[in-house]
Amino acid sequence: MAGKSRVAGKMSVMDINEIRRKFPILDRKVEGRNLVYLDNTATSQTPHSVVSDISSLYEHTKANVHRGVHTLSQEATDLQERTREHVRRYINASSIEEVVFTRGTTEAINLVASSFGDRLRDGDEIVLTVMEHHANIVPWQLLQRHKDIRLRVVDIDSEGTLDLRQYRSLFNEHTRLVAFCHVSNVLGTVNPVREMTAFAKERGVPVLIDGAQASPHMKIDVRDLDCDFYAFSSHKMYGPTGVGVLYGRRELLESMPPYQGGGEMIKHVSFSGTTFADLPFKFEAGTPDFIDIAAFSKALDFIEETGIDNIAAHEERLLAYATERLERIPGLRIFGKAPHKSAVISFLVGDIHPYDLGMLLDKLGVAVRTGHHCAMPLMERFGIPGTVRASFAVYNTFEEVDAFVAALERVVSMF
Ligand code: PMP
Repeated sequence: MAGKSRVAGKMSVMDINEIRRKFPILDRKVEGRNLVYLDNTATSQTPHSVVSDISSLYEHTKANVHRGVHTLSQEATDLQERTREHVRRYINASSIEEVVFTRGTTEAINLVASSFGDRLRDGDEIVLTVMEHHANIVPWQLLQRHKDIRLRVVDIDSEGTLDLRQYRSLFNEHTRLVAFCHVSNVLGTVNPVREMTAFAKERGVPVLIDGAQASPHMKIDVRDLDCDFYAFSSHKMYGPTGVGVLYGRRELLESMPPYQGGGEMIKHVSFSGTTFADLPFKFEAGTPDFIDIAAFSKALDFIEETGIDNIAAHEERLLAYATERLERIPGLRIFGKAPHKSAVISFLVGDIHPYDLGMLLDKLGVAVRTGHHCAMPLMERFGIPGTVRASFAVYNTFEEVDAFVAALERVVSMF
């Protein structure tokens, strides 16, 4: 199939080759071969527009934000705050006060666990799911060191779909929070987060959504979802590393204590007492990663110019094509076959260790991830040590799927 992808249902034609030209890294060779980058779930590549914005900011506008009256500081502050407004628009939050910059999804969830967690009492319960990334498990376990709270875990069926009956049955008078991923980083399952959120909200239970794997692939509208917290990372959205976002419903953020103390998050400090800054700065202690935050706006531009629906449609076609081709390989088992699935394929072939497959694929220029994918409870659920995971982004092509499958067939034939 050609690099041109005609997007069904839309009159637009997306030229994948034109998109690829925006990503210089895709021209790289690995082991003398054209790189086939299929590790987009871990991090996606970054277009030149973002990279050049970062260098330009370092060369022309570097100054600490929110501190100076001088021109550079004001420019740097404006650029950071411009991204905040861009993110607000992008996720349809009501106000910029609800957009807190963090280092990533992990820090965003830790912020909620620590700050919202402050109000939890012994005997309280939090509902999670078995498909959570460690970033949405361990912060709650850390809370358990100080409080006798209980984690209730929703199971999945063999295809990787959440057991919604069990989800509903886990709510009781002790439930204080529900926290689940929008999309599983291993199975690709897209959870019915709107319905899950509505069920929790009807019972007055706040909802945190880990959106790390949804935000690069679909439209996020936090008001439509009606969630209380939504966390995501720039580096998975074609953006710079070191930047994440915690969306938080204003009333909740206002009622929560600061997460970290330091500069930028205060109104007044004295040894007899300190008052804290208004939202969102109350949760942004210290110098933020202001250059990468500023450049994140260019990554959002890239997504918006390409069109999130076009991205999703192309990835869906890649997923269908790759799944169909992989399923023809004898002994190959795919983990995660939910009807509503994002472009992630986790698999094993016979009893070949996933690390062996990953290492040998790398020798053929194909970058896939192997291991437990920071989801050990899920691996345990399937009774496996890990998987090989191929994941797609907008710049991947059908030819790359062919190259990947051919490389895999070659590797498998060695065993
Ligand atoms: N949640 C999910 C579902 C993820 O896939 C990841 C990253 N693999 C994270 C959380 C953590 O994201 P980060 O490392 O950017 O904080």
